[in-house]
Amino acid sequence: MIRTRFAPSPNGPLHLGHAYAAIVAHDLARARQGEFRLRIEDIDGERSKATFVEDILLDLAWLGLEWDGDAAFQSHHLASFAKAAERLKTMGLLYPCHCTRAQITAAATELGPDGPVYPGTCRGRDVDPVGAAWRLDVTKALALTGPLEWTDERAGPQRAQPQVFGDIVLLRKDLPASYHLAVTLDDAADGITLVTRGMDLFAASHVHRLLQALLGLPVPTWHHHDLLVEPDGRKLAKRRGSASLGDRRRAGEDGAAIAAMLREGRFPAGISLSRGLHQVP
Ligand code: GLU
Repeated sequence: MIRTRFAPSPNGPLHLGHAYAAIVAHDLARARQGEFRLRIEDIDGERSKATFVEDILLDLAWLGLEWDGDAAFQSHHLASFAKAAERLKTMGLLYPCHCTRAQITAAATELGPDGPVYPGTCRGRDVDPVGAAWRLDVTKALALTGPLEWTDERAGPQRAQPQVFGDIVLLRKDLPASYHLAVTLDDAADGITLVTRGMDLFAASHVHRLLQALLGLPVPTWHHHDLLVEPDGRKLAKRRGSASLGDRRRAGEDGAAIAAMLREGRFPAGISLSRGLHQVP
């Protein structure tokens, strides 16, 4: 049986792009008699807000989407993130780093999916671990696992290329875990067999496949869907003025009708679907 999920971060209101993501995950599960789960990715204590969580639950109900089981909260799983990080440290795969974003930008010679690629400044150096971020030595990790593959339902088989991000941060200075570590562990813990999310996170799956191999986790299939974009080709974002789902709900718009429209590939003026954000071939 397949199990999909919608995994929003409650750090802002949901918009039509989120509705589309939730519908894709929900409908793929229903079409195959599988389960659709909801996970609230709320480990960013500064930015996560209870009112956004309440809105997410109301927005999904308004769209007519029901999830199976109880909503999961990522913040309840911090111990599992710490344990996995300890394991990777014991394997000698993590190293501490204090480099700031500005230092990385100045030192970088390559541009990766998330911007300037960390050039490995602190790798092999004697760095004070107190208050540091911890990075994964990707070259060493890949030497341990050998070549890895993963499959996206739409794009087909992929050779994992986690090195496109450089040595990624797995333990952040300010947060209990990075997105990559938390999402990979939670998808495994929740028994997700089909990881559904937007094309903007396609490249992240290279990193997640590596983490699965290192931590002995089951390997799901992925389904990266197209993204709703504005006329300039950029992903929808509340800050650029797209009405949030909450705004539409409170204004009395019909959520089921909006869901039907998105399913039919019809969008409000100025919004279209794009595959253009798939960054790693
Ligand atoms: N929580 C992430 C976000 O809202 C999505 C995680 C995922 O689907 O992998 O962007």
